Amino acid sequence: PEAITVQELANRMAARGGEVVKALFRMGVMATLTQTIDADTAELVVNEFGHRVKRVSEADVEQGLTGTADIDTDLQVRAPVVTIMGHVDHGKTSLLDALRKTDVAAREAGGITQHIGAYQVTIAGGQKITFLDTPGHEAFTAMRARGASVTDMVVLVVAADDGVMPQTIEAIHHAKAANVPLIVAVNKIDKQGVNLDRVRQELLQHEIVVESLGGDTQEIQVSALKGTNLDKLQEAILLQAEVLDLKANPDRAAEGTVIESKLDKGRGPVATVLVQKGTLRQGDLVVAGAEWGRVRAMLDDKGRQVKEAGPSLPVEILGLSGVPTAGETFVAVENESRAREISEYRQRVARDKQAAAAGAARGTLADMMA
Ligand code: GDP
Ligand code: MG
Repeated sequence: PEAITVQELANRMAARGGEVVKALFRMGVMATLTQTIDADTAELVVNEFGHRVKRVSEADVEQGLTGTADIDTDLQVRAPVVTIMGHVDHGKTSLLDALRKTDVAAREAGGITQHIGAYQVTIAGGQKITFLDTPGHEAFTAMRARGASVTDMVVLVVAADDGVMPQTIEAIHHAKAANVPLIVAVNKIDKQGVNLDRVRQELLQHEIVVESLGGDTQEIQVSALKGTNLDKLQEAILLQAEVLDLKANPDRAAEGTVIESKLDKGRGPVATVLVQKGTLRQGDLVVAGAEWGRVRAMLDDKGRQVKEAGPSLPVEILGLSGVPTAGETFVAVENESRAREISEYRQRVARDKQAAAAGAARGTLADMMA
């Protein structure tokens, strides 16, 4: 066994990332989901989970129900996944809309775009960027509480005429807690008499040092309203992506995260998922959260039927037995008994967790981290 990230370890155990973080915390190891822990520590965690698992399960759950780690040689560059955050009315929705309009692929498709909680744009140079269109910080927090680490970076929207506000600070904290880099988009620069230096100084007070002040946080001045400098913002995102060296193996069973879900009157359970590894294909058997089923149809963010979806592509999938919760992971499996096994395991874990939560209202520090 080699070093492994906390998230990867959680995936292999079909456990929630937050649970593994808590287990590590109890062992005196402070680690975030994206941090790497050594093999010995990982083994201790597996033992801790395995101990409980063996009591209740006939299955070799801790041996890794959700597949294997990617091998370096299989990795290919993938599109960055970006979340836009910022204070209310600073222009998040406007910026998401404006960026979406830059999609050359949508133009070719004659696009009737549909809202599926995430979209991918292809920019003029051919590179792709995926944007999560989650409604605000709460969704982000809820996803993270479930151990989901979906975003590679945060674009922090700060209105030039308003500066740093409470939710700006909250967003900075979210990005830091998630251990993801941040790009500042100073918005509304079309307005009269905006003071960019004031914004930079306010950011500085929260340890965000932009490049013009000698720091390493990129700052782009934009107007979502006029469409100014959207190309510069996209360049900044791609530059950051290059630094992060984002890669995934497309040639394996798909794994990813549920972004949002609903019960549709006509179509039944519908989930928007972000593929993070491998390629998801129509007809694949998937487990999403504790729900499972065969992917009957897949739609992209332009409403087009797609037969397959590789890393960083968000798609809507139809065919699940029920509605999974946003932030839960999904994985493609080889057969129905495997699907049932994972589904039952996850239901059991959820029940255990509920029982534990009901029994432990006393509130230790570990509980407070839940
Ligand atoms: P959100 O709450 O962060 O999603 O902000 P919205 O996108 O809803 O924008 C809030 C308000 O600011 C709306 O009235 C927008 O038209 C306006 N707005 C957004 N971007 C700009 C911009 O670049 N310039 C100007 N002047 N107004 C903007
Ligand atoms: Mg909005």
